[in-house]
Amino acid sequence: MSRSLSIFLLVALFSAYPSAQNRPGWLDPYRGNVEKIIAAAQADQFAWDRLAELTDTYGQRLSGSDNLNRAIAWAVETMKKDGLENVHTERVMVPRWVRGNESLEITNPPHHHVPMLGLGGSIATPPAGIEAEVMVVSNGDDLNKRAAEAKGKIVLFNVPYTNYGETVQYRGNGASMAARHGAVASLVRAVGPMGLRTPHTGGMNYANEVAKIPTAAIPAEDANRIQRLVNRGVKVRLRLKMEAKFEADVESFNVVGEIKGSEFPGEIVLVGGHFDSWDPGMGASDDGVGCVVTWEAGRLMKKLNIRPKRTVRVVLFTNEENGARGGNGYRDQHAAEASKHIMSVESDSGVFAPARIGFSGSEAARRIIGEIATLLAPLGMQQISGGGGGADIGPISALGKVPMMAYSGDSNKYFTIHHTPADTVDRIDPQEVSKAAASLATMIYVVADMPQALPK
Ligand SMILES: [Zn+2]
Repeated sequence: MSRSLSIFLLVALFSAYPSAQNRPGWLDPYRGNVEKIIAAAQADQFAWDRLAELTDTYGQRLSGSDNLNRAIAWAVETMKKDGLENVHTERVMVPRWVRGNESLEITNPPHHHVPMLGLGGSIATPPAGIEAEVMVVSNGDDLNKRAAEAKGKIVLFNVPYTNYGETVQYRGNGASMAARHGAVASLVRAVGPMGLRTPHTGGMNYANEVAKIPTAAIPAEDANRIQRLVNRGVKVRLRLKMEAKFEADVESFNVVGEIKGSEFPGEIVLVGGHFDSWDPGMGASDDGVGCVVTWEAGRLMKKLNIRPKRTVRVVLFTNEENGARGGNGYRDQHAAEASKHIMSVESDSGVFAPARIGFSGSEAARRIIGEIATLLAPLGMQQISGGGGGADIGPISALGKVPMMAYSGDSNKYFTIHHTPADTVDRIDPQEVSKAAASLATMIYVVADMPQALPK
């Protein structure tokens, strides 16, 4: 090993563990309670069991569904049983998109069923379906170059998955991109790493000035098969049938429960996830687990008789997936106290190892969060990265200029089952759930109880 390399490694080691050596003294009063929180969260698999109960009993929780309504009622009752305070619901109107029956078939070469999922927000096909030749494109540029070929076709975006942010645009906007050139329907290769022939649903939007065409996702394996057939010169024909439609908006609710602050009850540490889910799976990883692990912060404090100086407010947000009405509704209903939010925390990226905690805030805030995180050394979670935030806490945090924290699991594992029938509790390790609960409860407790409010 070269000398410069060994110095580099030494520096890297010390900057990776900034204060393991110089334990900040101001944290000493918290060490006892933090030990209790971590021990209680890891003593059993309470949080995983709660997630299993939620998903086994209520299943998928698409916005506007009876399942979601029943799950919300259960959450209210269960929060009350936990002893959380000021438990109540806050009403918001949400879209109600109904999938109906749907199917996709390769009719030439005859005849092959293709697994598929209509994209949330799509319109229906005529009852007999849409049958047309497929045009496979590798990305938006490819479509634009060969735009003249698209008329009357079903355009398939066979775009390999790189990361969610890059690839999801084809799910979100592909239908209008294709319709602009006269396509009659569009398909997108599932947005996620190669799975077990799983299609992934998810939200999509139609551009205003373009015709609306039906749109669905198919597994990567089927997209590649169609691509290979086309490459061999086969005129592949598909028949897509979908009954999807929007019904009138219906009422839904954010669920709120608190541990009231002992000294500054008007100052709020907001924590939560989204309680709605897509309909193919159970919404376990997205985002039942995020709701459960943030809710655990409140439950553990109550159970351990820990009452911080500031209020810890747990919110299970509705309608993140196809409308963001829960997060926007929370901002509108709490606008007057937006600046009284000291920190907001969301878990909506699963808990799969290796997980990380991200934080977005001022340098002064980041330094304090880094010090508090030294308390997570027993969990191996003491390194804080960037990228705090979340779709539900975003609106209130923008309004109140609130520092944001996120708990995020390994993104490859997360996006392999994201919005698929495979999003079930079976894939989630109870110890990873407990670790998330322990980490978040620790950070939330200390931020809520510090002598000075976290700087903005
Ligand atoms: Zn989510």
